[in-house]
Amino acid sequence: MIDLATTTVPHWIGGGRHSSASARTAPVFDPAIGVQTKSVVLADVDDVEVAVSAAAGAFPGWAKTSIARRQGVLFAFRELLNARKHELAEIITGEHGKVIGDATGEIQRGLEVVELATGFPHLTKGAFSENVSTGVDVYSVREPLGVVAIISPFNFPAMVPLWFVPVAIAAGNSVVLKPSEKDPSAALWLAELWKEAGLPDGVFNVLNGDKSAVDGLIRHPKVEAVSFVGSTPIAQYIYENSAKVGKRVQAFGGAKNHMLVLADADLDLVADQAINAGYGSAGERCMAISVVLALEPVADRLVAKLRERIGRLRVGDGRRGTDMGPLVTAEHREKVASYIDLAAADGATVVVDGRNPSVDGEPGGFWLGPTLLDDVPVTSRAYTEEIFGPVLSVVRVGSFEEGVELINSGRFGNGTAIFTNDGGAARRFQQEVEVGMIGINLPIPVPVAYYSFGGAKGSLFGDAKAYGAQGFDFFTKEKTITSRWLDPARHGGIDLGFPQND
Ligand code: NAD
Repeated sequence: MIDLATTTVPHWIGGGRHSSASARTAPVFDPAIGVQTKSVVLADVDDVEVAVSAAAGAFPGWAKTSIARRQGVLFAFRELLNARKHELAEIITGEHGKVIGDATGEIQRGLEVVELATGFPHLTKGAFSENVSTGVDVYSVREPLGVVAIISPFNFPAMVPLWFVPVAIAAGNSVVLKPSEKDPSAALWLAELWKEAGLPDGVFNVLNGDKSAVDGLIRHPKVEAVSFVGSTPIAQYIYENSAKVGKRVQAFGGAKNHMLVLADADLDLVADQAINAGYGSAGERCMAISVVLALEPVADRLVAKLRERIGRLRVGDGRRGTDMGPLVTAEHREKVASYIDLAAADGATVVVDGRNPSVDGEPGGFWLGPTLLDDVPVTSRAYTEEIFGPVLSVVRVGSFEEGVELINSGRFGNGTAIFTNDGGAARRFQQEVEVGMIGINLPIPVPVAYYSFGGAKGSLFGDAKAYGAQGFDFFTKEKTITSRWLDPARHGGIDLGFPQND
């Protein structure tokens, strides 16, 4: 395996590490210690060219590799990943900061997509209709696209690449993955694993870098499709700039997920779930709950239950059995903390203040404790913008309709949840919210691999979701063939009219 403690994280191109001539690097930190442990190379134009050329060179052979052989590689990859996921979890925690159990959880959710992809023949097969007209058959086939670019965010360095990479590879494409420069080592580790699983060199490549690498990929004429996951402004940029040069594109953006709590809900269940979904992974999840809409008269009781539970959370180094780790970088910690300042200045009550937490970890770590805000004004930027940290806001609402109206008035539409014992209310909620993924009495409704993941509005640009049947549709193009094998006795002769079926 690659020695990930080496000072510079390289690219992985054509089946091995690729040393770049680029002089640019970015620091990679251990967030629980607060020190730089590595650098990552930032691709220049030549690196983009080398990566895309390697992928383009590998594509024809892989696309023509039999379904049975491709399946064999996927099964081998699944076995290796399952056996060695603890190694990968350590790598993730060392660069992202999330606790080991949570890192293992994200790998497990990625494994689900690998398992889905092992059954790809069922999801890429076409259709056949015999005798649509006399002597005429119609059938369809799904073919791979070519080189596809996948650009991923820092918060799930394994799971988000695994939403796309196994699907794209199973379908016969070759891939250039551009991971986040904040935690790039998981991608390198996965590359090594693909090689061990028998994937031919060049089918999976990792290009490290920043905006220059991304721009190089989305403009490259040999890149056929782009899957992006990240913040909403960048997602919109990627969508517009990829689509205008004719690429197939899906761009997943940010989120501000609300949980609506009706007065008949089980408040202990609500409090437990809001804590899990608000502070798990230090709130750095696109499906985190960041707003609890409490229908009066339960808000006071709910806030008390949340405060009591927060008091029991242990913040600290994720390798020490704590509940919540640090934020990914010092800058991100400062940004999240600034939203607490802002909410307080706008009139919110800071019920639990995480700005000076006591931690089980090194003092230099990028710590921010779980924070609970109450009565957050819906005009505050602390309410309208994505915070992406361990900050849970309570907003009190007077009615079901007011709650739904708030959910629908935001710019995001990734996930939402309702907590109630009233099935009719839950059903109405499901019909009326303009959100892609909905939980009923559970807070992080990330669909299983055989459904598809994706939000609405500013949370997804493009019309194809990730994984499931939609994932395979995105990474393949359909051809429809209309064929006639003539009975030698039946020739139609000349007829310039538009073909009609008979
Ligand atoms: P980000 O937008 O800063 O970065 C995402 C990727 O884009 C990275 O690979 C980064 O190198 C690249 N990038 C950054 N700036 C760029 C620019 N100007 N031009 C081109 N590329 C650029 O996001 P992040 O901070 O890494 O991740 C957190 C964000 O991702 C949050 O907004 C979160 O909600 C979102 N997210 C969304 C989903 C989803 O499924 N909708 C899933 C995970 C994360």
